[in-house]
Amino acid sequence: MTNSDVVAFVLFGGSGDLAKRKLYPSLYLNFIKGLLPGDCKIFSVSRLSEEVQAFQAEIFLQLERYVSPSQFSDEKAKAFVKCIRHIQLDVTRDDAWETLETHLERFRHAPIVYYLSVAPRFFGDIAKGIASVSLNQNGARLVVEKPFGHDFESARALNKELRLFFDEHQIFRIDHYLGKESIQNILALRFSNNIFESQWHAGAIESVQITVAEKLGVGDRGDYYDNNGASKDMLQNHMMQLLSIVAMEPPFAFSPDAIRDEKVKLLRSLRPIDADSYSDSCVRGQYVSGQGEASYLEDVDKESSDCETYIAIKGYIDNRRWAGTPFYLRTGKRLAGGVGEIVINFKPSNPELIKSKDGLCSNNKLVINFQPDQDIFLFINKKDNQSESFSVDTARLQLSTKSGDLKQPYERLLGHVLAGDQTLFVRDDEIEVSWKWLDQLAASWEQGGSSPYPYKGFSQGPIEADKLFVESNGWEPIK
Ligand code: NAD
Repeated sequence: MTNSDVVAFVLFGGSGDLAKRKLYPSLYLNFIKGLLPGDCKIFSVSRLSEEVQAFQAEIFLQLERYVSPSQFSDEKAKAFVKCIRHIQLDVTRDDAWETLETHLERFRHAPIVYYLSVAPRFFGDIAKGIASVSLNQNGARLVVEKPFGHDFESARALNKELRLFFDEHQIFRIDHYLGKESIQNILALRFSNNIFESQWHAGAIESVQITVAEKLGVGDRGDYYDNNGASKDMLQNHMMQLLSIVAMEPPFAFSPDAIRDEKVKLLRSLRPIDADSYSDSCVRGQYVSGQGEASYLEDVDKESSDCETYIAIKGYIDNRRWAGTPFYLRTGKRLAGGVGEIVINFKPSNPELIKSKDGLCSNNKLVINFQPDQDIFLFINKKDNQSESFSVDTARLQLSTKSGDLKQPYERLLGHVLAGDQTLFVRDDEIEVSWKWLDQLAASWEQGGSSPYPYKGFSQGPIEADKLFVESNGWEPIK
């Protein structure tokens, strides 16, 4: 990581939930590791009027709460909060930008980071306001939270609007999954191990499964969720990002644009799911009550809703590397477990020649867990040393080693923003191509008039999703 030359970090939405739980703690962690320059000022922008000392004391308490005890130090947290100033302004008012300029005047000749942790309807106005006082220059960076658009047209319009005021190389679109240790590790495993890279293709891989399952229901996000569903909340952004990293071609260099070029190419080759292929390729579900917990409709207080809280996809990538390999993507709420994992299922080797005691020989599997734990396991067959006959059993090799606190996603992403490195941020064309694919999918289910299948809370999801596996081994159970 290169040293940062950032002189001011401006956090729009600095009194909000995300700022308190994730952003200040992550900035603090960068501060104690010397990645946030010691003389950098942090400006919290919100509509609230805050007295400086009370605000700093409040952030101190949040750090105590959200930073792990091994990384929290009273002394360092006090030094950190002294860097924080509060600016009260309403971004919808024209006079907001003069106020901002007054505070930032002395920093304008060096890079300033603007982090937009506010509702998406403000993104365009804030970019315009910053540019109206010429504070978008000299290496300024604009960090944009999700959601980025709600379909292809809105995402494209937002991209166009932001690019009127900031160049693409200044814009950092956040997808916090890209900051996870295990996801970073996919690149390391794939591109630094011949045993994986030489086998990373349809000839050797039977299927790939990507799962993001939650036990939680929609909670108090019902209004947002009912307009979006699992497809927009998870599939279009996080899961398509994971898919592109697992399946992309090797980049010609380990540079932000070389990597993102390959991710876009991969997403472009994801086969569209049209109305004809829909019923063999997609299953949507909605949770009903289970284990005494409310149904989705009770949670959102509605009589009926077509919103899916579960979606499963059987997808294909139309390129030479992946011809014929199914990619199973599954995400949902109120499922049997809370887990994020990627399973690379290799093809069997000599299943008739060597068997296990029960007559089966397991496929090799590479399992990458990215939540709640960051673990990687390789399943390998070996001789069963307890068996009288020559048979095999399966050993589980743990490839991840834990030493100390792993970097949290927001900590890592903020470190990259400070260093001006866009590798872990989503480029304009990536966002647009993934929305285009999802828009086609949504048009297909609307055309067919299909409603989500009910599934019991805390189950594996709708049983109809099993039909996606006509030839393969079935879903890995959600635990
Ligand atoms: P929040 O409602 O808790 O905070 C919103 C912030 O925006 C507050 O500081 C508020 O004062 C400020 N604000 C609102 N109107 C303003 C105005 N007119 N002028 C100036 N400031 C104004 O929201 P949040 O949960 O912190 O989320 C912020 C953004 O991050 C949203 O885009 C959300 O989708 C995204 N996000 C949040 C989470 C999360 O876990 N909270 C996760 C992922 C993405």
